[in-house]
Amino acid sequence: MTLFAAALGLLSALVGVDAARRVGTRSIVHSVGWALAAALAWSTGAWSLHILHVESLGLGFPLGYQPIILLAGWLLGVLLALGGWLLAFFRSPNAWRLLAASVLLTSGLICVQALALMAPGFTPGPTWNATSVASASVGTWLACLGALLVYWTNREQHPLPRLRLPLAALLFAAALGWSQWQMASAAGLEQQVSASYADLLSIHALGLLARFGPLILLLMTLVTSLTEARMRESLQKAEGSLERHSQTDPLTGLPNRQYMEERLLDAAQRADQHRQRLVMMFIDLDGFKPINETFGHRFGDLLLCETASRLGQHADSGVEVARWAADEFLLLVDRDEDREAVAARARTLLDQLKRPFELEGREVPVAASIGIAIYPNDGAQSTLIAHADAAARTAKAAGGDTYCFFEPHMMRDAREQMELLRDLRHASDQGQLELYYQPKIHAPSGQITGAEALLRWNHPVRGLVSPVHFIPIAERFGLIGAIGNWVIEEACRQIRQWRDGGLRMRVAINLSVHQLRQHDLADRIAAALAAQEVNPRLLTCEITESAAMEDADHTKAFFQQLAAVGVHLSIDDFGTGYSSLSYLRQLPTEELKIDRSFIIDLENSSDARAVVDAVVKLGLALGLKVVAEGVETEAQYQILRQLGCEELQGYLFAKPMGAKMLYLWATMEKGPGDLDFRASLFGDTQIPPLDEDAVKP
Ligand code: C2E
Ligand code: MG
Ligand code: MG
Repeated sequence: MTLFAAALGLLSALVGVDAARRVGTRSIVHSVGWALAAALAWSTGAWSLHILHVESLGLGFPLGYQPIILLAGWLLGVLLALGGWLLAFFRSPNAWRLLAASVLLTSGLICVQALALMAPGFTPGPTWNATSVASASVGTWLACLGALLVYWTNREQHPLPRLRLPLAALLFAAALGWSQWQMASAAGLEQQVSASYADLLSIHALGLLARFGPLILLLMTLVTSLTEARMRESLQKAEGSLERHSQTDPLTGLPNRQYMEERLLDAAQRADQHRQRLVMMFIDLDGFKPINETFGHRFGDLLLCETASRLGQHADSGVEVARWAADEFLLLVDRDEDREAVAARARTLLDQLKRPFELEGREVPVAASIGIAIYPNDGAQSTLIAHADAAARTAKAAGGDTYCFFEPHMMRDAREQMELLRDLRHASDQGQLELYYQPKIHAPSGQITGAEALLRWNHPVRGLVSPVHFIPIAERFGLIGAIGNWVIEEACRQIRQWRDGGLRMRVAINLSVHQLRQHDLADRIAAALAAQEVNPRLLTCEITESAAMEDADHTKAFFQQLAAVGVHLSIDDFGTGYSSLSYLRQLPTEELKIDRSFIIDLENSSDARAVVDAVVKLGLALGLKVVAEGVETEAQYQILRQLGCEELQGYLFAKPMGAKMLYLWATMEKGPGDLDFRASLFGDTQIPPLDEDAVKP
């Protein structure tokens, strides 16, 4: 019987505390429900212990209980415990609340026991030994308080987190047992002699109830508790998968921006604690946009998925990979790697991304630019991604397929770029754009044969801004289309104006790689020429070698459209891209402009001379005119003449100048140099009939 009573006490305590811990932080109704379940288990357990204990004493006379007092004791126990459990488990409790809770729980137990001891018709009745009552109360209170402290203290750093509940239950069970045992001895049961009234509830009937009633109640509560635990588990699972879903990029399956921001926050806190560094890499694909635009978005999506899977291979315990935006990915290294290791990692990534992608039977060459920012050296956690992004932009500006560590000036550059962008939006409306013209010289005769139109921005505050600074911004933020159209129209207008003034000048304009993707560009050029009634032969379009290489099929088709319009085509900055000869031969080009970098080295480097020599020979073989740009010295001029270079351009002859200046020079010989303009430049030009169909893409 003692064993049964002990098990019952333990079960009541366990069910009580298990139900009570579900009180938690949710709605009041939910919390009161669980606190009531705990209080019922608590009070019923105490009551049953009393009955079983008294029954086991074998008092030697039939015993009966007054139901009202018995019920009142149980009810009071329930109410006090309800308050106690709510105080201890609703929302986050503090020390005072735990203390009050322990007092209420103790009072509940003492009340149940005291009233249960007063319910039978004992004679002479409970004598109440004050010391035992005090010992019962204090012992019970200490056990309750101990149980609450075991459950709540050091919740996060608990040495045995799984034992919190059973340990607390053991102490609560001790409180139950102690209160019963001490109160029974305080009442002096052994001294009772008289039998009770026959019409009261007999101890035997109550014994039966005490055995099975609480058991059923406790089991029911336990089952409810377990069901709730399972429900909570599946709810947590559902919440987990929802959270995973909200943190995953649907296209690539990689974690998304939100996930990475959260991981970075955690990692930065850990890095602060352990005085470690973190590495953030911003990976931006080179040449993704043209692929997307040429082959379609579905193809672009395939490419992004393939990129994600290559990058995903790098994810391990200390490395997180995420998709940041369109073709931008992030890689976070939550390890203390030194600069060499980081650089080696970046090189591996670049090599992997450079391997051509096989998609739908096509081989797609892609590369990437990687920006690296290291925490905390390169900035706070909140700026780390932006700094890595700025470094990636620098890597891209350096030609791509490379990595770059962050440096503070990159952010200043970024801020300045934003300001330039803001002003650039209104530059052409406000008449701040202007074309300058740099003469092209026929090398053998030293005469001016034409000019290259070079864009200038007369900024109201910054003064004359070079295209080197604002063309990349215009390209990046989608302004190049409008600016490029302005250049086309302005160049045609100028050719017409000069012609009307008697100067038949050939003009070359520069086309950006982004303009090549405008499907109506050839139409536009044809329309601008027609509007000014200018002979298309007077206009040359310069396209950089790297732009011409970006998408060979598209470039070929586009060059053919332009050639059909009748304009000349020139490959600019030749020698910096990697064009193949067979490819070059397929393009209807008339001119190759050797990049300035070779001309600079001409006097001192035999390699540079060999390159220029080879390009001139190549030009001869392919029937192309070879132009050298950036000629600054007389020595360079002489070498280029000897090598057979046909046209020259450079500060040695003339810097780019305003249209009026060039006209004055040509017509009144008031120019910066003493060069002659070729005689054929002075005469009438005629507009040939335009073949409309040839212009259509
Ligand atoms: P580019 O087409 O290769 O133009 C030659 C650049 O070299 C010009 O710089 C010119 O001023 C400069 N240059 C010419 N001779 C010398 C020399 O002897 N020494 C030195 N140090 N530099 C010389 P600019 O005008 O700053 O233009 C830079 C680039 O900006 C151009 O390179 C071209 O790619 C681009 N650009 C200029 N105007 C336009 C435009 O209207 N549209 C587009 N899309 N790009 C343009
Ligand atoms: Mg050019
Ligand atoms: Mg050039």
